[in-house]
Amino acid sequence: MDNNIVRKHCSFCGTKGKRGMRFGGGLGAMICESCVSHYHEVFASAAKTSRAARPPWEAMSDAEILSNLPLISQTADEVNEFLVEWVELARSRKLSWAEIGKAMGVSRQAVWERFAQRVEKLRAQASSA
Ligand SMILES: [Zn+2]
Repeated sequence: MDNNIVRKHCSFCGTKGKRGMRFGGGLGAMICESCVSHYHEVFASAAKTSRAARPPWEAMSDAEILSNLPLISQTADEVNEFLVEWVELARSRKLSWAEIGKAMGVSRQAVWERFAQRVEKLRAQASSA
């Protein structure tokens, strides 16, 4: 499992992880300390919470919308990589492709086709590191 924040980005602001920074994570999404502070302030203030309830994209320019696309794609890539790491974790615990597929609501074949090669590549990288 890759726990190195240098290869991660904050899923909320896109900030690239650097040595010495602290990130929180959950289910593949990451959050930097700055965003934790920001959202703590927002949630602690009824006025800020009501302002934040409005979707930010309504006030964004087209350029701002476009500038967010690569950040969202980057987050999707990191979440997908996290999912592969968890499937590899499940496989390393000898859980079957059928059990993993059932947990994900797809067939054994579908989960194997989606993950088998990526899990093997991840294992090869881990054994050569
Ligand atoms: Zn952030």
